[in-house]
Amino acid sequence: MYTYPKMEYKPYIPGFKPVDSGPLSRFLPPLEEGVISAWLSHQTLAGNWLLDPFGFSPRLVLEAARSGYRVLVTANNPVTRFLLETFANPPPESEFIAALADLGAIKKGEERLAGHLQSLYFTTCEKCNQQIQAHSFLWRKGEDTPYARIYECPHCGDSGERAATEEDKEHAKRIASTDALHRSRAFERVISLKDEDRIYAEEAIQHYLPRPLYALTTVINRIDSLTLSPERKRALMALILLACDAGNTLWAHPSERPRPKQLSTPNQFREHNVWMMLERGVSLFAASGSPVPFEAWPKRIPESGGICIYEGRLKELAHEVKKEIPIAAVIGSVPRPNQAFWTLSALWAGWLWGKDAVEPYKVALRRRRYDWAWSATALHAIFEHLNGLLADGVPMFGLIPEPEPAFLTSALTAAYAAGFKLESIALRTEHDAMQVIWKTAQKPKSEIADKSVLQKAVFDYLCARGEPASYLHIHTAGLIALAEANMLKQPELEFDETLRKAQALFSSALKDDERFTHYSTGENIDTGMWGVTSPPQDESLSDLIEIAVVTYLQKNPNAIFLEMEDDLYPRFPGLLTPSKGLIYAVLNSYAEKNGANWKLRDEDVASARREEMKAVFALLEKIGKRLNYESSINDKVLTWKDNGQTVKKFNVLASALLNRALEHADGHTVIVIPGGRAALAAYKQERDPSLRARLKKYKLVKYRLLRSLLEVPILTRETFEEQIASDPVEESKGQMMMF
Ligand SMILES: [Zn+2]
Repeated sequence: MYTYPKMEYKPYIPGFKPVDSGPLSRFLPPLEEGVISAWLSHQTLAGNWLLDPFGFSPRLVLEAARSGYRVLVTANNPVTRFLLETFANPPPESEFIAALADLGAIKKGEERLAGHLQSLYFTTCEKCNQQIQAHSFLWRKGEDTPYARIYECPHCGDSGERAATEEDKEHAKRIASTDALHRSRAFERVISLKDEDRIYAEEAIQHYLPRPLYALTTVINRIDSLTLSPERKRALMALILLACDAGNTLWAHPSERPRPKQLSTPNQFREHNVWMMLERGVSLFAASGSPVPFEAWPKRIPESGGICIYEGRLKELAHEVKKEIPIAAVIGSVPRPNQAFWTLSALWAGWLWGKDAVEPYKVALRRRRYDWAWSATALHAIFEHLNGLLADGVPMFGLIPEPEPAFLTSALTAAYAAGFKLESIALRTEHDAMQVIWKTAQKPKSEIADKSVLQKAVFDYLCARGEPASYLHIHTAGLIALAEANMLKQPELEFDETLRKAQALFSSALKDDERFTHYSTGENIDTGMWGVTSPPQDESLSDLIEIAVVTYLQKNPNAIFLEMEDDLYPRFPGLLTPSKGLIYAVLNSYAEKNGANWKLRDEDVASARREEMKAVFALLEKIGKRLNYESSINDKVLTWKDNGQTVKKFNVLASALLNRALEHADGHTVIVIPGGRAALAAYKQERDPSLRARLKKYKLVKYRLLRSLLEVPILTRETFEEQIASDPVEESKGQMMMF
């Protein structure tokens, strides 16, 4: 076995997708639940104070607090801070309902506000001609009327996307005619007219169409006229915050789960019904879970756990913390730049809480471009302050959601330069948050980066994996090696230069080394997959996972998925963590699901498989006899000979361990697999271009084809060849997760 890791990799900690993604989830880090509490439960920490220096994921902080820790959080984004407070201490559902009722009952001229806002979205049902509310209107960028509407008629049940009517278009134009007034009102709540930054606020407001802007300002201008209890007011603000997000143009259509990063209007987008979004918010917030003690610094929280929030930057807090609070561990979701969310947060803070709330966060309005060098510089500043306030050897558990190579380089380099020693990285797929562990240490003495360090690390990693990997995987392996060799950053270089150099180093390291094969249709190194040109004879990662899953199920019938992850991840830690897609592909091939429990199929129990293989050998012998070949069996390979000359070698498998079968394959080889393994074999070929290429030279047939051949009345040597050439193996199961 290759020894690619010098570091002791920790296993990936499995979690589960939250039942509902919750409010503003498109801007919050997509993290699995249960991960931080599992990590904490494995630590022996000195005390129970944790620090989240990023304050990016309210859910992460809440989960840690619910595990009995006191979490000090710095959050300078007023929206994130509000979300955290609302989740920590959620008003009961009744307060949300009452808040909405109070709002709806406000008089607007002769009508109630609820009716007025609903009427903004009136449209005519195409089928029954009744007047109903549209759920949303669809727009093309730059046009002044919507082209379609989406509704669900409560009268006749007609629903879906319908072309916009003339009436719909007139309606939109009528609202737009008074837009200037509402726009300037919306704007004045955020920033004063004399402020030199006003142009940025104006630009941000451009991402609101006239109708939602009118609806939002109409609501916001009436908040102050309501006399509400603090709790009900908080409930109302939470609903309005959701409406503020629903009202902008950053809703690409069609799109399942958009995660906008840039403030830019898509070519086609959805205009949500703001009133309906207020109504929907009730159930979205009401599911926030049990309350957690929550205080603003310098007030203290009980020892049993809770959240202490510091509204500001770590820099200002560092000195006080060092004196008073022994931080036992650092946790956090490492922030990636999100210009859209940050700008909108400043805007919404103004709308909800007025200009004063925007002031400390105004810089977010001003900045329009965030690149990775900016990100590294900002992260570095945070890590520097952290290192200053923490004792030596304090662990930090960082999650890097939506990992991509540049983000990772930026985060690891920033931490490295501030003296955080990389202890472990666990990476599953690019769709899962990466789990990184650092420890505070002395700042490293930097060495000049050396290409051969990268090449060795990538080569060793790919050999250990035994199959090609995504660029993200080998990039991570390379970064780890550079960190271990103290080569991530030269102290005299700025971050932009450092990141550029790192990218160039990776590019030349991969392109100049013939041991690597790039499986890609694109030129860029980060596309497609990378493998080693002469794959080692070891089993591939997917083969090893197949063996491990089946062995586990033999010993643990009726296991649930999470138990299998708990068994597999420690055995395949770090960058070898199998994807859920691979585990499911194996499960679907070998096992059946009963409720949440997995059990080997009857035909895949070891004894049944042995019997079936025997039958297949008997079958091959019979067919051979009909074709006048002599058969002999040696170690699961049945050979046909004609006058002493080898004609065919049937390698009969019960598994989809194709690499093993290919090891001794030659021009005569036919690989025979059970039909139940065909989809897994196809899956493996799809994720492994090297395997796909090698398999092309050989015939792959299923047991059942051989059975059907025995039924053919006139079987000749020629028709036999034709038949086995026609057996389709690419029988994918459709809904399988690819990676
Ligand atoms: Zn209708």
